Amino acid sequence: MRLRNIPGSREAIAESQYVIHEEETRAGSWHEIFENDHPIYIEIGMGKGQFLMELARRNPDINYVGIEKYSSVLIRALEKMEEEETPLSNICFIRMDAEDIVKVFAKNEVDRIYLNFSDPWPKDRHAKRRLTSKEFMARYDQILVPDGQVEFKTDNRGLFDYSLEAIPEAGWEIEMHTFDLHHSEYAEGNVMTEYETKFSGEGK
Ligand code: SAM
Repeated sequence: MRLRNIPGSREAIAESQYVIHEEETRAGSWHEIFENDHPIYIEIGMGKGQFLMELARRNPDINYVGIEKYSSVLIRALEKMEEEETPLSNICFIRMDAEDIVKVFAKNEVDRIYLNFSDPWPKDRHAKRRLTSKEFMARYDQILVPDGQVEFKTDNRGLFDYSLEAIPEAGWEIEMHTFDLHHSEYAEGNVMTEYETKFSGEGK
């Protein structure tokens, strides 16, 4: 991934009505933040927000929280939010490293977690940073409802093969998987992310 510092992005994020700040004081209060009891779905590493914003448009009865580590990326999602014709009231964002996710959501507060085109961290010594590592799966366990789900898409075969082993080893059940989502029975209703649009457009 290539990142570039965007001057003013930190300030714009600090002032944005779409960003939740002091996130570590919010655990247990997400339904109050959204002012309803609707389920809470989060995306970790949401990038510029294309996927989550489309879900928010389609599903007004679900609350969405997008988590992104870098200001220079999150700012692009905020720009898109400003362009929405009808403002979306069921989505907000946090700029944070997901390593601290258990400080931000309480037990049973999250219904579903999306991981899309997560950074592969190919070196063995960085395996703990992969968002499907046993360390991250244990964090998800702490915030998800008992029948909560994680949905994961990637174009990276190494990360996918690793995840097929790491997830059951972490005590999770894989309900379904496919090596070719776009030509599978799950293609219908699939919402594309920015990376997915780009890679599938290149025929990958
Ligand atoms: N999900 C988007 C998509 O499919 O288009 C973006 C994919 S991009 C390859 C991965 C994104 O995850 C980057 O924006 C990166 O900054 C973010 N990210 C990686 N590790 C993260 C972490 N530990 N916490 C929060 N965001 C993270």
